[in-house]
Amino acid sequence: MEKCAAVKTNGERCGHRRDLNPANGLCLFHDPDRKAELYAFQDRGRKNRGARKPKRIESIEDVIAARDWLFGELMAKRIERDEVSTLRAVLADQEKSITQDLLGRVRALQRELKHLRQGAS
Ligand SMILES: [Zn+2]
Repeated sequence: MEKCAAVKTNGERCGHRRDLNPANGLCLFHDPDRKAELYAFQDRGRKNRGARKPKRIESIEDVIAARDWLFGELMAKRIERDEVSTLRAVLADQEKSITQDLLGRVRALQRELKHLRQGAS
């Protein structure tokens, strides 16, 4: 199978074998004739990223990612409005327990810090 004819800036030959342009032997990433196609491809990649269906919600970052995904699903009309409100309620519960857990940890650290400071003086 043919390889892309482009040479990378580090001097190595591009290793791409898929989707080569038969006219110039270049892959999508190196083909100057397919810039628009490349940008559309990169744009699709950006849109899909960060909107992945969440598996678990254990941190505030997971809550944010889940909301992001939910928003994308709603905008793409892949999800019903009543499903959204159920999922939002679940997310709110998760967020509350994560926040409470974090607050508990912060308070425990504050107590420990106070204890250490008292011991040091
Ligand atoms: Zn290439």
